[in-house]
Amino acid sequence: MTYDYDLFVIGAGSGGLAASKRAASYGAKVAIAEQDLVGGTCVIRGCVPKKLLVYASKFSHLFHDAVGYGWSEVQSHLNWEHLQTSVDKEVHRLSQLHISFLEKAGVELFPHRATLVDPHTVEVDGRKITADKILIAVGGEAVKPNLPGMEYALTSREMFLLKQQPKRLAVLGAGYIAVEFAGIMHGLGTQVTQLIRGDLFLKGFDEDVRIGIFDGMKHRGINIVCNMTLKGIEKTPEGLMLKYSEIGKDTESTLTVDAVLIAIGRAPLLGGLGLENAGVETVNCEDEDMPRVHGYSVNCAIKVDEYSRTSQPNIFAVGDCTNRINLTPVAIGEGRAFADTEFGNNSRIFSHQDVPTAVFSQPEAATVGMTEREAKQKFGEDDVQIYRARFRPMFHSLTGSDEKVMVKLVIDKNTDRVLGAHMVGDNAAEIIQGIAIAVKMGATKKDFDATVGIHPSTAEEFVTLR
Ligand code: NDP
Repeated sequence: MTYDYDLFVIGAGSGGLAASKRAASYGAKVAIAEQDLVGGTCVIRGCVPKKLLVYASKFSHLFHDAVGYGWSEVQSHLNWEHLQTSVDKEVHRLSQLHISFLEKAGVELFPHRATLVDPHTVEVDGRKITADKILIAVGGEAVKPNLPGMEYALTSREMFLLKQQPKRLAVLGAGYIAVEFAGIMHGLGTQVTQLIRGDLFLKGFDEDVRIGIFDGMKHRGINIVCNMTLKGIEKTPEGLMLKYSEIGKDTESTLTVDAVLIAIGRAPLLGGLGLENAGVETVNCEDEDMPRVHGYSVNCAIKVDEYSRTSQPNIFAVGDCTNRINLTPVAIGEGRAFADTEFGNNSRIFSHQDVPTAVFSQPEAATVGMTEREAKQKFGEDDVQIYRARFRPMFHSLTGSDEKVMVKLVIDKNTDRVLGAHMVGDNAAEIIQGIAIAVKMGATKKDFDATVGIHPSTAEEFVTLR
């Protein structure tokens, strides 16, 4: 049986792009379909524009801090349109760059939606195309709760397209996107209220990270409403009125704002993809009450094995649509491991162990390995040693701010191995990236102690913890 292509990739986001180029580098005949801008969530409406907005938002804090160092006070004004246009231009530049990378690699691009017809056939723009192997890398989309007035609410997708800066913003959610946008918009001068169901953000992160971010955001002036349930949104002449109540209580409170961001999770973009035509199974899609995108909820995923192979042996899936660890570098890693295995004669499994991650909240946080709770659950309360420091960073000795940095190591007492490293504070992502190499290599606390610190720096705390 001959096919039009050796590999057909659905979705030109981080995972699909990485896999298609790697497969083509081994001589495979590869095509990729993308219905939107090439680049996917990360490049077009995620990590990249988000990080640019984080940079933009930090200037207001720097203007403030500079006074302590003798600079005269700065009264600066943000040109919202300039910022949005510049970010948009950069996103389009990067999208074009990715198209040129595909061309160089010899990957054929179909700028259309692709759907599965059978295990070896996709339909693209009314045309049937066959492939020996198919890779699904369609990513996900933000969900909204099933509540009245959700048509007035924005998701992160629309946050990058706002024509005007809202004066007052409500953010619903407690994950990465909610805390990152709360910090961005606050730094850009919007009055931000974040509404969460629990007492802290970022469930699953180390407790000291969660507390550090919470305290730091409050300290910077973000209004946080905890333990609340949103009832709905109403459009009024004064703005969008959120109705919410404290969990366990009947009394209703209201908050009127100019814009509402919903960031309560993302669901895989599987609706209408034709998975059933190709015998591709999904998992965790049963809970009827969960908010959904085209029928699929946040916990849904394409079922894959460790080689990213679906229930159909010649169809594979990587990235957020498989809901393993929903991070760009993970999708890239999964995509490359798939291509190496299937086309490069180098069978390998991508390791989901010790994946470092950062939250570009303000203050920033980053983490690798086990949290204190996970380590104690696995090894026992008495077999885990915690080293932690919380201090005012040198930068703030002249700014007057008492914002704190937190660094923490979680150690296995029996082997002295560093199980986890966590940080809240400026440059946490840059610092933890280096520490992650040591953790991945199995470094011990003794190895950390034997490393000479760089002085004066925040990072040196990781090698001087006692
Ligand atoms: P997340 O899944 O990270 O978090 C959403 C949180 O919102 C939940 O943990 C939950 O917290 C809360 N929530 C859920 N339902 C409701 C509800 N009905 N009402 C109020 N709160 C609710 O989702 P995000 O949308 O923030 O991010 C999606 C994905 O994008 C993540 O998987 C992340 O990996 C990725 N991402 C990564 C970034 C990075 O690497 N820096 C940046 C941005 C996104 P609780 O249960 O505590 O209420």
